[in-house]
Amino acid sequence: MKQQLAPERPDSERTSGQPRGTMVLKMNPTARILNGIEIAAQIKAEVAEEARTLTAGGITPGLAVVLVGHVAASEIYVRSKVKTCAELGLWSEMLTPPENVTTEELLELVAGLNARDEVDGILIQLPLPAHVDTRRLLEAVSPEKDVDGFHPINVGRLQSSASHGIQAGTVLAPCTPAGIMEIMKRSDLPVAGQHAVVLGRSEIVGKPVAMMLLNASATVTVCHSKTVEIERYTREADILVAAIGRPGFVTAEMVKPGATLIDVGINRVTDAAEVARFFPGDEARAAQFAQRGSTLVGDIHPAAFALAGAYTPVPGGVGALTIAMLMKNTVAAAKARRGATKYREVAAAKA
Ligand code: NAP
Repeated sequence: MKQQLAPERPDSERTSGQPRGTMVLKMNPTARILNGIEIAAQIKAEVAEEARTLTAGGITPGLAVVLVGHVAASEIYVRSKVKTCAELGLWSEMLTPPENVTTEELLELVAGLNARDEVDGILIQLPLPAHVDTRRLLEAVSPEKDVDGFHPINVGRLQSSASHGIQAGTVLAPCTPAGIMEIMKRSDLPVAGQHAVVLGRSEIVGKPVAMMLLNASATVTVCHSKTVEIERYTREADILVAAIGRPGFVTAEMVKPGATLIDVGINRVTDAAEVARFFPGDEARAAQFAQRGSTLVGDIHPAAFALAGAYTPVPGGVGALTIAMLMKNTVAAAKARRGATKYREVAAAKA
């Protein structure tokens, strides 16, 4: 199947006889969908097994979630995290200080959680109200309990100890980037020696995923809002990770056919014309939009997926992994801080 697309590519990339000003891109009818929901289910099953083993040794992994004020989206995320803890056999506790809580009061609350032995993970749901010093608060969380992987000590460990530290549970890495690496690993997609291009340089996605890809021996390019001619880089990517928060930013003509496309973007589109432009002829999307009044679009235009060797859909791709990785980090934190010896004893007795 062939598709005519503008704009122009260099002469070297035009098919012989093809007129200037157009290009022909080969569609890949076998583009592999990387199903984040299935991969997350595998990880959750493994986490539940580890939690059972720890609990049998008298250590039930526990997560404390701090949710300040009433941000609707944050409340939904936190409920989902608490529910997943219960499903996997972890205990959880929700602390809900009011909107007008001060930084000092929150620091005291975090100090209390740091001191409690049964609390393995501390998660401060972001964003915090503007008057709170977010950086100071994140740095107050004990690095051993920092299951979001945002503490400078864990950021530094990620940089200095390469991926085996994450496998061994000695590095608490940010959940979304760690989820991306799990997708790559569990789908047997090559990383070493590949050219990985990361769009976005945020502290929570772009920078850590670039570091993890580098640790896994990819050759990494990071692009951002000041990058000139971004498509020069995206077209060279064997692995393209898009994390910029711009719906459908990466178009078909910006990707290399056969590339692995990892779409981190979660953008809610509420305009019917835009939905029709992103998903022409997709009746399921149109029906969903009619029912809900919105639909989710990633940072990669759906038309680009048709050229990929493999890609993560939105929804049902990267987003599905984040909570699973949070659970994995919480159990890893419990094992590393208070359960390693006990865990080995119980696992050996079970074997
Ligand atoms: P962010 O903090 O807003 O960072 C966006 C990054 O994209 C910045 O580095 C920015 O560059 C870059 N950027 C923005 N516009 C650009 C453009 N036109 N061209 C090139 N680069 C551009 O975003 P984030 O927190 O990393 O999130 C990115 C997306 O991932 C969002 O859609 C978010 O909802 C989604 N997300 C999903 C998950 C999940 O799946 N669980 C988790 C986190 C985030 P500068 O640095 O130059 O400003």
